[in-house]
Amino acid sequence: MRSGSSMVLLLILALAAIGCGREAAGEENSRVDTERLSAIVRELASDKYEGRAPGTPGGRRTVEYLIREFDELGLEPGGVDGGWTHNVPMIHTQVEAPATLRFVVEGKPQPLEQKQDIEASTVRAVDSIVIDAPVVFVGFGAYAPERDWDDYGDIDLQGKVALYLVNDPDFAAEPGEPAAGRFGNRRMTYYGRWAYKFEEAARRGAAAALVIHETEAAGYGWNVASSSPGENYAVVSTDAETPPVMLQGWLHEDAAATLMRSAGYDLDELRIRSRSPDFEAFELDGISFVSDLSVSVDSFESSNVLALLPGDAHPDEVLMVAAHWDAYGVGEPDERGRTVRPGANDDALGIAGVLEIARLLKAGPALERSVVFAAWTAEESGLLGSSAYAKDPVYPLEKTVANLSLDILNTAGPARDVILVGEGQSELEDDLARAAAAQGRTVTPESLPENGLFYRADHFPMARGGVPVLLIMQIAGGADLVDGGREAGEQWIEDYIGNCYHQTCDAWDPDWDLRGAAQDMELFRAILEDLGNSRRWPQWKAGSEFKAIREQSAGARR
Ligand SMILES: [Zn+2]
Repeated sequence: MRSGSSMVLLLILALAAIGCGREAAGEENSRVDTERLSAIVRELASDKYEGRAPGTPGGRRTVEYLIREFDELGLEPGGVDGGWTHNVPMIHTQVEAPATLRFVVEGKPQPLEQKQDIEASTVRAVDSIVIDAPVVFVGFGAYAPERDWDDYGDIDLQGKVALYLVNDPDFAAEPGEPAAGRFGNRRMTYYGRWAYKFEEAARRGAAAALVIHETEAAGYGWNVASSSPGENYAVVSTDAETPPVMLQGWLHEDAAATLMRSAGYDLDELRIRSRSPDFEAFELDGISFVSDLSVSVDSFESSNVLALLPGDAHPDEVLMVAAHWDAYGVGEPDERGRTVRPGANDDALGIAGVLEIARLLKAGPALERSVVFAAWTAEESGLLGSSAYAKDPVYPLEKTVANLSLDILNTAGPARDVILVGEGQSELEDDLARAAAAQGRTVTPESLPENGLFYRADHFPMARGGVPVLLIMQIAGGADLVDGGREAGEQWIEDYIGNCYHQTCDAWDPDWDLRGAAQDMELFRAILEDLGNSRRWPQWKAGSEFKAIREQSAGARR
């Protein structure tokens, strides 16, 4: 009996040991590993990668690193023709000084100085821009049939210069005005973004499009709008696309007011008129715009990196989790002599999240649907890598279930809530709320929706292609931190934006507390696992400007 019981005891101990071993291995594969996140960021933010600028040796080393990491995780190449990459051909343009830029009012020239009065650039690969054309005031320039709103009426913009107000018709509307609430009130819609305005002007054949800058309505000051005068980047466009306008940019509010006054108009009065649903674009009497500019253009290439975890039942239905690998490269020395702007949080940490989610999903049971892990290039040059992908996707957008993006995460420890960017856009926010509730957390909408962050990160080109999206971007609102509450969350944003954003100071820091970032990555992982084993297609919500685009391809998802 005794020996018998000790045998049983030994057996129990042995089994327990095996169990323990399993549990240890299981633990490692069941949770986001903050030490691994930190190690990946430390590597990518090191000087070896020179701030990860696209088209540089540091950029190429980043692509090599990402391919190696995805390969070591056992993922499949997810790019073009069975490779790991998706090529992004780009141009860099610079309008040369001195530039001839002026309005002409009743025959009298009003010169415009680049950077002071205007920020004018091009995304066309041309060597000169010669324009002498009438100017059309288009108000906010929204053509939004789903909101029963059309600022253009019968106006012909062909070959003309379109002058826009920034933001949406209801941004400054008082309660009770007919425009109030038609464009989400203070929340900016896509119609409020300069990108939309330039696109709409191009669709209508305009030669140039200028947006009158206002700090509050733009969400940033003239210093930001004019920070790289005459310079621009773009994905090389194909012949099938509508060509962009020749010249695009910002017009300083004072220059616009002076112009209007000298021609007998009142900018303030025009702003109020533009808030009316009856407003229609009109040619400004006696005003023309003249430009005679030379442009230097150089071409370069970079790559998105794509890895695939194939689904075992519906591999053609694709979930996507993404971040951007590029950062700001090398710049002027700071007070400590540092020149590399390493983008440690923006967005090496997002990339670390994508790699960590990839590791966990690969270690877990196979999903029915496929997951694509995307590391985009050239986000900082204008969402170029993700835009190039959305134009020419490897996995058709109509069968892409959702895009989940990570761009700037919380490094100040665990939080009681997660910040939602773009409230009311898609049903994915309900997925987020469920996943957060399972963690004992809540969802808090972003604090400044009028800044339009929803339109300013790499998930956005996917949204514009109809794919429902979810973005974690910690600068969208102060989190309710376990240590210090909302006040500490807001302080964290102030410190990051004020000191580090796009600067040398956005560096790897051994003192980061990545438990909050890990919580948010776990949310994505939970949503991916849930949707990955479901046939559900999250929808855009009523009123979203992307709902109609998605519905055009509904047949592909039956
Ligand atoms: Zn970023």
